[in-house]
Amino acid sequence: MNVLVLNCGSSSLKFAVIDPGASVEHVSGIGQRLGTPEATLDIKRNGSKSSRAMPGAAHGEALRAVVEELRSLGLADALVGVGHRVVHGGSKFSGSMPITPEVIAKIEECVPLGPLHNPPNLVGIKIAKELFPELLQVAVFDTAFHQTMPAVAYTYPVPYEWQDSYGVRRYGFHGTSHRFVAKQALAQTGLPTGDHAIVTAHLGNGCSCTAVRNGKSVDTTMGLTPLEGLMMGTRSGSVDPAIVGHVAAARKGPAEKVLDDLNKKSGLLGVSGLSNDMRAVEEAAAGGHERARLALDLFCYTLAKSIAGLVVPLGRLDALVFTGGIGENSTTVRARTVGLLGFLGLELDAAANAVHGKGQRGRITTGERPQALVVATNEELMIAMDTAEIARGNGR
Ligand code: ADP
Repeated sequence: MNVLVLNCGSSSLKFAVIDPGASVEHVSGIGQRLGTPEATLDIKRNGSKSSRAMPGAAHGEALRAVVEELRSLGLADALVGVGHRVVHGGSKFSGSMPITPEVIAKIEECVPLGPLHNPPNLVGIKIAKELFPELLQVAVFDTAFHQTMPAVAYTYPVPYEWQDSYGVRRYGFHGTSHRFVAKQALAQTGLPTGDHAIVTAHLGNGCSCTAVRNGKSVDTTMGLTPLEGLMMGTRSGSVDPAIVGHVAAARKGPAEKVLDDLNKKSGLLGVSGLSNDMRAVEEAAAGGHERARLALDLFCYTLAKSIAGLVVPLGRLDALVFTGGIGENSTTVRARTVGLLGFLGLELDAAANAVHGKGQRGRITTGERPQALVVATNEELMIAMDTAEIARGNGR
């Protein structure tokens, strides 16, 4: 049972053909700089990678090229569905959905909440429907997992009517990853399905933490947009909102530009002045670069504070899960963060932490409970699993 997984960004298209039952990825790839003369399509299969230039190609052409490739590999006919990553489902979706005209209309209604992401997601859906008119299409939302948050977690202390009038509430993101790694962590730790308290830390270019109580998200660090919460590669995370007006007035410039700087010129990049890439920041910090050191300190400090804060809705901590490029690979970030959380009963196992930084996954603390562990995320596999489950339900 194979699923085509699609993730369309404004100028990119990521795809993978996955057999979710066997957790096998047959082929994957990415179209980049789409709509420009530098557009390319990279395809990975069996450990080898091919790349081709597709000058001027837009999403449609790139996806057509992908389909041709799948045909030549004999994979196009064996598909049971197409799973689409959709970033913002607002309050309208609490799970993955077979795509119907009504679902498309609702995703369109969520465009004001996800103006950068939902339109290209919709382009992907439209093209896939044209190319595979007979095939089941499923939307898997970044926000859906967090729809179980209680009002006390999702309400902002602002004029209450803003929620109804403007959709101002916390939605949370990275839900597919948090859901996937929380499930994996249960399997790895043996914690009971019906009684567990886990914090998942997804640390990639974007970063967020989620409190998972018995399989459900009860709070998360991102909010109305993915700008809230932890310090990230280029995003500030939570700051005093008055900064926006203050800097705009000082510059005699628009608030939008300040907001853009909070999204694109802040975080690791803004503080270090060097890079948004954790590897570069760690290397410079180790070499004595003062601002890189501060950026690394601040990253771990705000992360540890947020994790500790998420123990409030959980009432206790059974497991802390590190995932994403930083969470899976940075022994330094994990060691520092666990070190700051010693008061919760976490004690680093330095030897295990060093090993788990090199491809192996598992526990990095000494005690049984609470424990910290590394879990590799796989959002594409989760999307494929959801799509296959819906396909089974549809009797395909
Ligand atoms: P995305 O959120 O775009 O999917 P990733 O999950 O791949 O990104 O995470 C990218 C981040 O992971 C970057 O900051 C990168 O520096 C960091 N990273 C990857 N490998 C390492 C490593 N060995 N040590 C520290 N950070 C790493």
